[in-house]
Amino acid sequence: MAKIEMKTPLVEMDGDEMTRILWKMIKDELLFPYIDLKTEYYDLGLAYRNETDDKVTIDSANATKKYGVAVKCATITPNAARMSEYNLKEMWKSPNGTIRAALDGTVFRTPIVVKGIEPCVRNWEKPITLARHAYGDVYKNTEIKVPGAGKAELVFTDENGKETRELIHNFTGAGIIQGMHNTEESIESFAKACFNYALDTKQDLWFATKDTISKKYDHTFKDIFQEIFDKEYKDKFDAAGIEYFYTLIDDAVARVMKAKGGFIWACKNYDGDVMSDMVSSAFGSLAMMTSVLVSPSGVYEYEAAHGTVQRHYYKHLKGEETSTNSVATIFAWTGALRKRGELDGIQELMEFADKLERATITTIESGRMTKDLALITSLKDVTVLNSESFIKEIRKTLEEM
Ligand code: NAP
Ligand code: MG
Repeated sequence: MAKIEMKTPLVEMDGDEMTRILWKMIKDELLFPYIDLKTEYYDLGLAYRNETDDKVTIDSANATKKYGVAVKCATITPNAARMSEYNLKEMWKSPNGTIRAALDGTVFRTPIVVKGIEPCVRNWEKPITLARHAYGDVYKNTEIKVPGAGKAELVFTDENGKETRELIHNFTGAGIIQGMHNTEESIESFAKACFNYALDTKQDLWFATKDTISKKYDHTFKDIFQEIFDKEYKDKFDAAGIEYFYTLIDDAVARVMKAKGGFIWACKNYDGDVMSDMVSSAFGSLAMMTSVLVSPSGVYEYEAAHGTVQRHYYKHLKGEETSTNSVATIFAWTGALRKRGELDGIQELMEFADKLERATITTIESGRMTKDLALITSLKDVTVLNSESFIKEIRKTLEEM
């Protein structure tokens, strides 16, 4: 059978530890035999980031802007322990943070639903997609540890030097202060990304903040969403038979627990960080979750939602067998290949992505899975596979299809 041809390369961002091992297995077993794979390769493994003073991360983000679609392996965010483990010149920043800052945009995470892995929340019949604003708020904050009594103020100085001041607090003793910001431009692109994604996937969109308490900060998010919706999206939503719905964040949390699923839940940066871990673990596992960063300029970066699975990697290094789930990493590749196919008009590439996803799900539903899923499945007669044989079983299913 002739291999599927590609036109434009995918930006390939390799990563660290166990996911780097899976990365190669996935390419060798599930991609190279079927696709004439074109990628522009960037090694975001920590050793090479260190060697290039992290320039490789910036280069990979720029390449993503140029080509439009990237696929990323999980990477180590260095901490003190990694400094000595990898003999680092500096505690390099999180590559995800660097790439998000360069591309802006919104991260959409959706659980991969399979029969036999039921969500803990019994009434969730369909996946819930979490849309996380990927810019600002507490992730770009400035903090002061207040040593003792004194006055804290918020000061804005405009370009002409005119100051606006707000009292934060008159401290009578020690305390803490935090300053945060966001920009109208970034909130607008967040809103548009969410509305477009809702239309693309024909699902309702929920959005929630704490606007009753934060009457300027959070209220601005609410207002921008509403303005853009009324002006640009209301008719399109009506035509698609879907709804935009705003409520308070605590009300949203309560409603989500009672809902059936099948909608997109847009969250501010921090809410999205916390809620995506809750939703994904309630659906089964971080390894059963797709994740894509969509930038306002229409650039896509696909990745797995989990980390580099360090504990498994150390076992692997000792020559012990591992049973690491590769589903999220496989779906990062299929997401990127499908999008590339869509943009370049290559029908076979899109069909291949669909098929590989079906083969992955079918393999699990037939009772062949990794240990993390075997522990939570309701299926009987389960075969627990190691990292490599799980991928080989998926290939078998793919060949049968
Ligand atoms: P992690 O790699 O997600 O792993 C945490 C635990 O979750 C694992 O020890 C494992 O549990 C389970 N797990 C996660 N993914 C799994 C998979 N595919 N298959 C089976 N089990 C899986 O998080 P971490 O250990 O906190 O972080 C490790 C490194 O990843 C860190 O250096 C961190 O900076 C990095 N990280 C990167 C990203 C990213 O690039 N997107 C995201 C998060 C973290 P058991 O050990 O109990 O089997
Ligand atoms: Mg988190």
